Amino acid sequence: MFRQDFPLLSNESVVYLDTAASAQKPEIVLREMDTFYRTSYANVHRGQCALASRSTAAYESARETVARFIQASPDEIVFTKGATESINLVAAGYAQTLRPGDEVLVCVAEHHANFVPWQQACLRSGALFNVFNVLPTGEIDMNDFREKLSDRTKIVAVAHMSNVLGLLNPVRELTELAHRVGAKILVDGAQSIAHTSVDVRDLDCDFFAFSGHKLYGPTGVGILYGKKSCLESLPPYQFGGDMIRHVAVDKTTFADVPVRFEAGTTPFVEAVGLAKAVEYVEAIGMRQIEVHEKELTHYLIDRLRTVPDVTFVGDSLNKRGLVSFNVGDIHPSDIAFALAQDHICVRVGHHCAMLIHHRFGRDISLRVSLGLYNDRNDIDAFMRSLKKSLSLLRGDK
Ligand code: PMP
Repeated sequence: MFRQDFPLLSNESVVYLDTAASAQKPEIVLREMDTFYRTSYANVHRGQCALASRSTAAYESARETVARFIQASPDEIVFTKGATESINLVAAGYAQTLRPGDEVLVCVAEHHANFVPWQQACLRSGALFNVFNVLPTGEIDMNDFREKLSDRTKIVAVAHMSNVLGLLNPVRELTELAHRVGAKILVDGAQSIAHTSVDVRDLDCDFFAFSGHKLYGPTGVGILYGKKSCLESLPPYQFGGDMIRHVAVDKTTFADVPVRFEAGTTPFVEAVGLAKAVEYVEAIGMRQIEVHEKELTHYLIDRLRTVPDVTFVGDSLNKRGLVSFNVGDIHPSDIAFALAQDHICVRVGHHCAMLIHHRFGRDISLRVSLGLYNDRNDIDAFMRSLKKSLSLLRGDK
């Protein structure tokens, strides 16, 4: 539908079905960053000259745009280098405050970026690392969650949308349960942010993390949203320029949040690019994107169900924008290799989520993921290539 907005997709004869790994970039984002480098570039928060003022104003305006997009306030938005750093920032803080006897509760379906930092924080602090399960559908096992949640739980970490299952998790309900026992909740929004409206006030989550590059923005920039009181209670993550208030030999005091968490030169050009990507998505409208992607995901699932021996990772077909599957015992890498010959880009592997694959008795899967620029022609091209590949791999006559 919007393919013409994306120079790479307009110029290359590629069928790009790997948006869950990273989204392509619209022309206006590329142009915004190019113009910024050519006309407004100077380090932020540092200089008195007009360039530095313009640069700083653009950076702070990007913070406001991102805040508006998720219904937060600008002082609750920390610029990081991506979702992984956002989560590590919070987990590193908790590693310092957790004590033996405390517990951290994480879903088995988490991307390693929202699993390993918590595991390591527990190892460092002596807190218990606890994992809740999903049902055969791939939906969260709410009974298991309720059983494992207790007044010892200090923080729950869960994805808004899994990058393997493609299901939206009931974050509002999880948040309410977590808050009832006094726990905080961090929501990994790396996948959901480009596929559904996010309102952090409505979700009531304490932290929300995502990356710019999956939202049609540049690489190297991400967001950590935190309720102001939650950010204020976290120790600083990195130390250096800009994040201090006063430095003396015996003591350093730190700047207010969110700048306290932005040590060193920040990815400010990327932040400006991300704000443009947000404006691009807002101009199309998240509602329209959701309708388009839901329809296309159903179309993809219907077509895949016509292929003998296809099994989906997680039985629920209520998926959004991505589908992970296997075909009998054919190695997914063989299929991906064959698809690549027809310039079809899909993902093969454990998608940085080994445990959810093991939960479903697999090591790896093939993943097809969609963006706002995909249409039925892409799915049809993929299906033609898939059927041809399977027939070759099965040695059909
Ligand atoms: N969480 C989820 C659910 C993801 O899909 C990803 C990226 N694949 C991440 C976290 C990490 O994002 P990034 O690599 O951009 O930091």
